[in-house]
Amino acid sequence: MFKDLFTNITVLVSLLIFYCQMTNAKPLTRHSPIRRKITVGIAGGLLGNILMYYSISIDAALIDLRHIPLILVAFYGGTLPALLSMLLIILGRMFIAINIPAFTSIILIILVTAASLILAKTTLSKKMKIFLILTFDNFIFSIIVSSLLHDPYTLAYLIPFYSGASYIGGFIAFYVLNVLRTNQMLFKKYKSESTTDALTGLNNYRNFDEKFNDLVKTVIHKKEQLSLLYIDIDFFKKVNDTYGHAEGDEVLKQLGEILQKCSRSFDIISRNGGEEFTVLLRNSSLTEAREAAEKIRRSVEKHSFQLKNNHINVTVSIGVACFRETTDNIYNLIEDADKSLYQAKNTGRNKVCIAVSH
Ligand code: GH3
Ligand code: MG
Ligand code: MG
Repeated sequence: MFKDLFTNITVLVSLLIFYCQMTNAKPLTRHSPIRRKITVGIAGGLLGNILMYYSISIDAALIDLRHIPLILVAFYGGTLPALLSMLLIILGRMFIAINIPAFTSIILIILVTAASLILAKTTLSKKMKIFLILTFDNFIFSIIVSSLLHDPYTLAYLIPFYSGASYIGGFIAFYVLNVLRTNQMLFKKYKSESTTDALTGLNNYRNFDEKFNDLVKTVIHKKEQLSLLYIDIDFFKKVNDTYGHAEGDEVLKQLGEILQKCSRSFDIISRNGGEEFTVLLRNSSLTEAREAAEKIRRSVEKHSFQLKNNHINVTVSIGVACFRETTDNIYNLIEDADKSLYQAKNTGRNKVCIAVSH
């Protein structure tokens, strides 16, 4: 009996881990897309059926943890996936046999689904909700089994065993799922933070570096051109000194938006640090890169940056370098664009300068 219970819990936990691994980085919520809810509903139903297959036999009764995946699905995914799981568990049960015990277990499953959906929406603590759902399930089970089996001796250990198994299985499954979901959410958060600049939503320097190195191989292999714009805000320190750091951040954010508007969907726009941005233009000649840089420079110059209490204007200086036109060594691209940016700074700012060919 205890060996079977152990098997049931092990199957439940290992399949939960397997499922979470498969759907990495995207825990189910009530706001998940319908397709995902349907997938989870089916997965919950299948898991319920697998658990039914591993039923624990106690005298004339068969008990298992099929209700646990159903409760989990209702708890995290809401009505649609819960109803799907419920339907599959009911079908699975009818497939085994159509008799009185089957009907009573179907009633139990329907009541547990309804109770789970109602309780999941309450503001009670997670632990309390789980406890109440499992208690409700145990209570209904006790009533049903007492009406079916009249042997007090069997009932005396069947009901406590089922209740214990249900609490233990339920709490372990919830605990495991909670840990897995937390890990998934943290993984998703850290993954995005490690590649994205939090202020502008653009690529951060690390991601720029990675994408540049990836592009190097493709560009050389496909004999493509690659251009780089190195952009720096003019006299940005003055903006910070006059309006404060928070307003300076607002300017950086709006500049990020302008860069996105001025670029093609496959251009790689990054904030390389402070008030320095880059745009990597794949398959672009020097002429095209210069035009893109001019478009950005003009757009920034024309844009009225809306701050809390002021509208201000800023300008940018841009350095441009092009692999195959200004340099034959792709690894010089960044340094060349940076050098021409400083040439733009030294010769008046608010201008585009092209790298010297070498
Ligand atoms: P130049 O035209 O020569 O580029 O002058 P500049 O004032 O823009 O250049 P400088 O390098 O002297 O100053 C850059 C300023 O950018 C200094 C720093 O306070 C500011 N800065 C860097 N990172 C951030 C940031 O994340 N937020 C804000 N608000 N300011 C930043
Ligand atoms: Mg600057
Ligand atoms: Mg700078």
